[in-house]
Amino acid sequence: MSDLPSCTHTPVDDSTLEGSDHAYDTSGGSATLSSGSLTLVATPIGNLGDISVRAIETLKAAELILCEDTRVTAKLLKAYNISTPTLILHDHNEEGRIPGLLNRLKGGARLALVSDAGTPLVSDPGFRLARAAIAEDVSIGAIPGPNAATLALTLSGLPPHPYLFNGFAAPRSAARRSQFSILRAAEQAGLSATLIWYEAPHRLLDMIEDLIAVFGADRQGAVARELTKRFEEIRRGTLAELQTHFTQTAPRGEITILIGPSGDSDKPSGDDLDSRLLAALQTHSVKDAAALVAGAVNLPKRVVYARALELGKA
Ligand code: SAM
Repeated sequence: MSDLPSCTHTPVDDSTLEGSDHAYDTSGGSATLSSGSLTLVATPIGNLGDISVRAIETLKAAELILCEDTRVTAKLLKAYNISTPTLILHDHNEEGRIPGLLNRLKGGARLALVSDAGTPLVSDPGFRLARAAIAEDVSIGAIPGPNAATLALTLSGLPPHPYLFNGFAAPRSAARRSQFSILRAAEQAGLSATLIWYEAPHRLLDMIEDLIAVFGADRQGAVARELTKRFEEIRRGTLAELQTHFTQTAPRGEITILIGPSGDSDKPSGDDLDSRLLAALQTHSVKDAAALVAGAVNLPKRVVYARALELGKA
């Protein structure tokens, strides 16, 4: 017998939909298209065809589309004959625009929010406005659609869950390594997840070098490039293999990089961070225990200190 979790794919036939686990419905979704609502609309990440019927309907019905860059969104609107006016909302003006937009929403306006590509808020503007709308009890809805991180995850060949999406890593190597060290410490404390980042092509090799320094050259990974576009490429292998490939072939285009969970040898054991700390805490202060263990496990002192504090409290 299969040990796969049960997940039935019922053929689309109205008579079977009512009683099935997954009910299809053409009427709904929270708040979308109603007056006084903000709808977050996902748009394609490359292939213009990847827009949903509901996304088009919502953009047409909205009074105003908030977007990052009017020129980028204009291309999408033109392709689908959408004539709704647009207003720029990006990281630098989002905070300032919130009071005016909330007033419009409370006055009954139907606003849609898109980013240049993919799902708004995910490494894109919109979170502060969405949070403010929720806090003020304004209706908020979303039209789901493309997202580079989850698409890369499904194509990577790496375990799909749990996964941890990190957005963009810090642009400078020292800060980036420090971010990676925190994740590595979490792995040593038991985290076993596929890790995902967005990255710019000119930083990919530096990023891989830092990943190797912290997670090791043998860690399995994948680089997903130009997903849904003409030159889509998924390269899978160890970090060392990915480094060799992209040293020989300069990376171009839009990139998502992933690494798989740490292997069995990294699974928590008598040598893991927590057990070392717990042992050290028997005879040392939190500060001294952290200093002692940080050297042994090759992690930044402040990371180990934070964990020692938590364990000390427990
Ligand atoms: N909100 C978007 C989403 O839902 O995927 C992501 C926006 S973020 C500003 C843009 C980054 O996502 C790119 O720099 C790249 O790292 C990644 N990305 C976007 N499109 C991609 C694609 N077609 N293939 C691979 N990665 C992509």
